[in-house]
Amino acid sequence: MEMPRPNPDIIARKAELVSRMLEVLPADAVISDPSETRAYECDALTAYKCPPLAAILPSSTQQVSDALRICHAMGVPVVPRGSGTSLAGGALPTADSVILGVARLNDVLDTDYDNRFIKVQTGRTNLSVTGAVEEHGFFYAPDPSSQLACAIAGNIAMNSGGAHCLKYGVTTNNLMGVTMVLMDGTIMELGGAHLDAPGYDLLGLICGSEGQLGVVTEATLRILHKPEGARPVLMGFDSNEVAGQCVSDIIKAGVLPVAIEFMDRPCIRACEAFAKAGYPDCEALLIVEVEGSDAEIDEQLETIMAIARTHNPVELRQSTSAEESARIWLGRKSAFGAMGQINDYMCLDGTIPVSQLPFVLKRIGEMSKEFGLDVANVFHAGDGNMHPLILFDANKPGDLELCEAFGAEILKLCVEVGGCLTGEHGVGIEKRDLMVDQYAPQDLEMQMAVKDVFDPKWLLNPAKVFPLQSSESHRIAAE
Ligand SMILES: Cc1cc2nc3c(=O)[nH]c(=O)nc-3n(C[C@H](O)[C@H](O)[C@H](O)COP(=O)(O)OP(=O)(O)OC[C@H]3O[C@@H](n4cnc5c(N)ncnc54)[C@H](O)[C@@H]3O)c2cc1C
Repeated sequence: MEMPRPNPDIIARKAELVSRMLEVLPADAVISDPSETRAYECDALTAYKCPPLAAILPSSTQQVSDALRICHAMGVPVVPRGSGTSLAGGALPTADSVILGVARLNDVLDTDYDNRFIKVQTGRTNLSVTGAVEEHGFFYAPDPSSQLACAIAGNIAMNSGGAHCLKYGVTTNNLMGVTMVLMDGTIMELGGAHLDAPGYDLLGLICGSEGQLGVVTEATLRILHKPEGARPVLMGFDSNEVAGQCVSDIIKAGVLPVAIEFMDRPCIRACEAFAKAGYPDCEALLIVEVEGSDAEIDEQLETIMAIARTHNPVELRQSTSAEESARIWLGRKSAFGAMGQINDYMCLDGTIPVSQLPFVLKRIGEMSKEFGLDVANVFHAGDGNMHPLILFDANKPGDLELCEAFGAEILKLCVEVGGCLTGEHGVGIEKRDLMVDQYAPQDLEMQMAVKDVFDPKWLLNPAKVFPLQSSESHRIAAE
């Protein structure tokens, strides 16, 4: 993966940078020793690594602002970082950049159960947001599988989703306001504890902007009443295509489960070995969950299971206890980790119209043979958000490149059938050069013009999201 050449003048001024940072941050919040900066050399896309010049760990919005002002004045690029779980290389540093980690910004600032919101600092982990409100009967809906580790900061930057987003929407549908610091240190407020806002929807623009426009330090999030009950049902099928058709038919019928998750045989095996979830031995598995009172659950499942029966399932089984449901979800949520124990893999994240699932699954199977690399599929089928995991051998010369070429073909296929390059993981470095397959040149220019407004020097999160040549020419023009 090509990255911009680091600026030697900035590297030569490292001592000055560190000394100026120490004027606004405590000593333990400034990391500059190469043995320690290595901890920030990559995110969860571990195929690409580069230690940053330094890392800083502010603990207030004001400290973020002071630090950014210094970087802005010195022309130092800044890479915002939450927990570093991005699968798209979104938090990958360059050798002349400063990592700005928000892990120490992790307080709950306000909870309002009457008006159903919580205000947190964005270094707080996703799961601990629900942890802060659950004893009052509330939860925060977006539930990435990485929710134990990933931070609200990264969730906002990537507009993250999860298994239960079919019903509740992704981060943007649950975000009410942010405090954000611009590259020049300006602190701004967008949205708030109210519905909608007059003027342009800048909050919508920030959610999913991948650390390109500002550093988000605080967030007001919508919290919801926990449902009365929930019940998953396991559906096993003879082939991926039939399972895909069943998903399409459930969605077409107008019932709205809270989640429809898909796994193929390699994933079923890996997850079963890992979590002993009670998954059936079959080619393709759907986990379909509905919520409500017992009567509501029974009624919804009756319709859904009738649809499944028309596809001759090899297994059709409702969970019978809370423990069994928890095991079923543990298996699914451990999928990436469980596969990682067996193989190196690259996780893709394309989105397609649900009706295209059978065709795209079939084409991925054919392409797997053409490229000679196996694929495991596990994904949020209800909203067509696919995660093919391409299996490869990181120690075999040429395998990573072959895997990247295969991945690019799958993502192009997603675009061809009317979908898009990313559902929830973002573009990062991984998909930046494929943006030309999604957008016309004038559309991309319009997006880069937005970056020009928020970050005129192009210092925030370099070399991400836009094709490298395009972003480099904007950056050079801004010098
Ligand atoms: C095992 C595993 C499972 C996963 N499952 C899911 C899933 O189900 N759904 C899903 O959506 N994702 C999933 N992911 C991907 C990842 O967890 C999400 O993208 C997550 O939102 C990243 O959060 P983070 O805090 O780790 O961000 P990081 O990796 O630190 O950063 C991600 C991006 O956010 C930017 N950023 C970070 N902090 C800020 C800030 N304060 N202001 C502005 N920009 C900032 C970074 O520059 C970068 O571009 C998974 C990852 C793993 C490893």
